[in-house]
Formats: sequence, structure tokens, C-alpha cells
Amino acid sequence: MNPSSFASLSLNPELISNLATLAYTEMTPIQAQSLPHILAGKDVIAQGKTGSGKTAAFGLGLLEKLDVKRFRIQALVLCPTRELADQVANELRKLARTIHNIKILTLCGGVPFGPQVGSLEHGAHIIVGTPGRIDDHLRKNTLKLDTVNTLVLDEADRMLAMGFQDTLDAIIARIPAQRQTLLFSATFPKQIQSIARRIMKQPIMVQVDSGHENDSIQQHFYKVTDDRQRMTAVRLLLMKYRPVSTLVFCNTKKETQEVADELIRHGFSALALHGDLDQRDRDQTLIRFTNKSASVLVATDVAARGLDIDALDAVINYQIARDAEVHVHRIGRTGRAGNKGIACSLYNDKESYKLALLDVEIDPIIGSQALPSLSLLDKPVAPPAMHTLQIDGGKKQKVRAGDILGALTGENGIEGNQVGKIYLADNWAYVAVSREVMKPALKKLGEGKLKGRSFRVRLIHN
Ligand code: ADP
Ligand code: MG
Repeated sequence: MNPSSFASLSLNPELISNLATLAYTEMTPIQAQSLPHILAGKDVIAQGKTGSGKTAAFGLGLLEKLDVKRFRIQALVLCPTRELADQVANELRKLARTIHNIKILTLCGGVPFGPQVGSLEHGAHIIVGTPGRIDDHLRKNTLKLDTVNTLVLDEADRMLAMGFQDTLDAIIARIPAQRQTLLFSATFPKQIQSIARRIMKQPIMVQVDSGHENDSIQQHFYKVTDDRQRMTAVRLLLMKYRPVSTLVFCNTKKETQEVADELIRHGFSALALHGDLDQRDRDQTLIRFTNKSASVLVATDVAARGLDIDALDAVINYQIARDAEVHVHRIGRTGRAGNKGIACSLYNDKESYKLALLDVEIDPIIGSQALPSLSLLDKPVAPPAMHTLQIDGGKKQKVRAGDILGALTGENGIEGNQVGKIYLADNWAYVAVSREVMKPALKKLGEGKLKGRSFRVRLIHN
């Protein structure tokens, strides 16, 4: 039998057959290395870059161990951000499709507390959440973790970098010592070693490909003289490479807005993502970027933490990151899953010492190249492929993605392949449609009915 086949594991046959329906034909390297130990009940530290399949590694471990008939919280998964917790919960639900009556609950900040208390009263098998909100529930006694037998720290490096150390300690103190602890991380800074020593028992270390993928990320470095040229350089790089989706990293919140504003002034569809946005604006920003109706997202490292945006064509470092680890993490967001990615970093004279720091950690020889020709700026800026339409009805109104798709593509409607991502929130929904069919799509949704009701529909202007 192929050693990297899931069938080589002592996994419930239903879990295995479900993996086939998910088209998970083989284990990824990190899964192949960690799952045998995880299934044997060992504590495991697994380090692997983003996209290496860490979620299924711990997910299959905890699902295999779970006793559905025992309606108690048996596993806790801690993640750094709400977005990541949602993704992990979704992946777990996919993996658990064949397990009837399994209840997976997310507990994150940024959403009201009360409904979470209600959900907790109904019970759950697995909790996925962010440290802050989990700790809040523990303090208010709305959550008890004394039946947990598996603890997962996902993206542990990020959680520590965000200052969650004390909160994690407080949470872990409420979980029985007799448990399995699994720790996942993209990097392995010293802080992780120390937390691992404190909370894990003879952990097994599994490490896969710690660096970025040299072959799929092209790195470019450009020297600029001042901030004006830095700004122009961003436009030049966008014109030269014409990426569909670009993430620009800035060091400060103020800069993210300035860069986004300047790009917008020059006709790019750019959005700034920073900590001052309220949850709704943040969600909307991410939706517009991931559904390709905005091409450039300008963010700080903090704001971009935990964003899992696939198929990013380019990352631009407006300045070089403060250290090599952050740099590797930033550029690792492009070129995922075999897609070719471009990483461009801008630096001035004063920052050139940082290049030397990167050189130690990153294999390819880092040189500097000339900026693309200014004549590129005379060309028209390509608009994004999609438009976002907002519908004032969502999950609470029982609107489903299929209803929206149906309304758009029904009689005299637009083609299914002109409909992009659909995102459902509680009271509204967003759907991306191809740019050229925006008007008919708007008309179709506005005139038609969803779940027998008419909802207000509007275009979100870029
Ligand atoms: P990580 O947590 O390491 O960043 P994820 O767990 O989010 O990575 O996995 C990245 C992607 O790979 C997800 O879309 C997931 O569904 C997919 N994936 C995971 N394991 C497999 C597998 N064995 N075969 C195919 N796809 C997989
Ligand atoms: Mg992950």
C-alpha cells in the first residue's frame, strides 16, 4: 500500500471514504509524518508552512478519537483570529460529514456574546475559537473545559506574536492535565519551545519544509530613494505584473490608508485593511478582495494575520519587514499550492541593512533590480474582473447560496460561470458577478424573489 495513502492509517473507514469524496487522495507530507503519532495519542508539535494541510492532520486525529454519543466538549481548538477559526471549523465540518449529530461550535470575538451562551447551553463536541473569547466564557462560567481530552493550538506562533501567552495559560489551566496536546505552527520561534515545554508531554516534533517554496515564489527587490518613489513603485509593479490579486504590506495603519487612497486616485481598485475597521467593514473588505472585485488589499501585518486568501498573485512589501521571519511569512502568502507567485520588496538606503538580515535566512541570492519604466503609468489600469452586489437578506432570512445563484441564472439570467463567490452573513449576502453582467445581474436580483420575498440589492462601488 502506498505509505502516503490515508488508508494506511488506522482511521474509521467512514472518515477515509469521506476523504475520497473531498478528493484528498494522498496525505500531504505533514499529514503523513504527524498523523500516525497523533492517532497513537502522542503529543505532537508540527511545523509546516501555510497550506501544508495542518488542519486535516489534527482534525482527523480529534475526529477519530471523538465519541459522538458522549455529548460533552471533547476537543478545543484555539486559533489566532476569527477568520482562521471559521476556516478551521469549516474544514472540520467537511471532514466530519459522515459523523451524524456531531456538533462543532465556534466561539470568537467580534460577534455578540449572548447567542454563544445559548449555543453552549445546547452543548457541543468540539469548540473552535479565539483565546480572548474562550477566556471570557471561562471567566463568566458559561463554558467548562473539564471534559476536554484533546487540545489543539493552531498557528501557535501567531497567537504568541499577538500577545495571547497569558490568556493561553489561563485557558490551559482549566483543561485536564490528562489530555493530548497538539501544537501547529508555521514557524518555530523560541517562545514556542518554552510553551511546549510547559504544556506538552514528551512531544514529538514533526517538521516539513519550514521555509518558503523557492521554486514557486519569485522574489524581486527594488531600491527607492524616497517615499514618493516608493508610492510610484507600487503602481509601476502593479502595471508591470498585472496581478489579479495583490496584498501590499505596510508598517503602519496610517500608511495603509495613504497607499490605498493614492492607488484609488490613480484608478486602481484598492482597499485598506487595518485594526480601526469595525467588524462589518472588515468582513466587507475581505469579501471584496477575495471575490476579486477589488484587486489590491493594503494591510499591516497585524491586520493581515490569519487571513487565508488563496491564489494571491503578488505580495508587495511597501517596506521590508522588521525581521526575516515576518518577511518569510508575508511572501509565503503568494505562490500557494503550486501557483506561481511574485514577491516584490521596496527599500531605501536606510533599510538596506535589513536586506542583509534576510540574506542569511533566504537561500536565493538577493539582488536589487531597476524599477519598471515610468511609461507604464500612461497605460490604462485594468479594472477588477468582478463586481460585488449586496443583498439585504441573509441566513436569518433563510436565504441560501443556491437561491441567489438560481435567481441570477434563471430565465433570461446570466450564465453560472459569470457568478463568483457568494457569501452569506446573518442579515445580508454578497455575491460577485462578472463585471460585464453587473447591470443584468442587479436587475435580475432586484426584480426576482428569494425565498418568496424581495430584498433590496445594491452594487458596492469600488
Ligand atoms: P495549513 O493549516 O497547513 O495552512 P490547511 O489545513 O488550511 O493548511 O490546508 C490547505 C488546503 O489543502 C485546504 O484547502 C485543504 O482543504 C487542502 N488539503 C488538506 N489536506 C489535503 C490532502 N491530503 N489532499 C488534498 N488537499 C488537502
Ligand atoms: Mg492552518
